[in-house]
Amino acid sequence: MKLRKGKQKFTQGLLPLWDHQCALCEINLPELLMATHSKPWKDSTDEERLDIYNGLLLCCNHEILYDQGYIAFDGSGKIHIASEIDITEYGKYGIHAKMRVNRREENKPYFKWHKRNIFRG
Ligand SMILES: [Zn+2]
Repeated sequence: MKLRKGKQKFTQGLLPLWDHQCALCEINLPELLMATHSKPWKDSTDEERLDIYNGLLLCCNHEILYDQGYIAFDGSGKIHIASEIDITEYGKYGIHAKMRVNRREENKPYFKWHKRNIFRG
């Protein structure tokens, strides 16, 4: 119960932070949006788990790409795309090399952690 309340609070805090839309492609149908952690739940301290700046609001496709390390963001918020995804296929995934997310300073350490530990490169 405590866990669920924490997650709910986390998601509720994330929505306005990312204008209720996918940080990457701006899809805004609530049913398609997912709150994800840059530094995953299992690797985070209790404090990091509930830190909304450890979170990112993404549509379901982009959430899985991020969660599985196919995409990452650097300190400036610029996208990095794993070499496993061929450049000619980017369009199918709704991504392109010049995308960036509107990150805040507080997102930086979490983006860096994700890029270093989860990104496939
Ligand atoms: Zn998206």
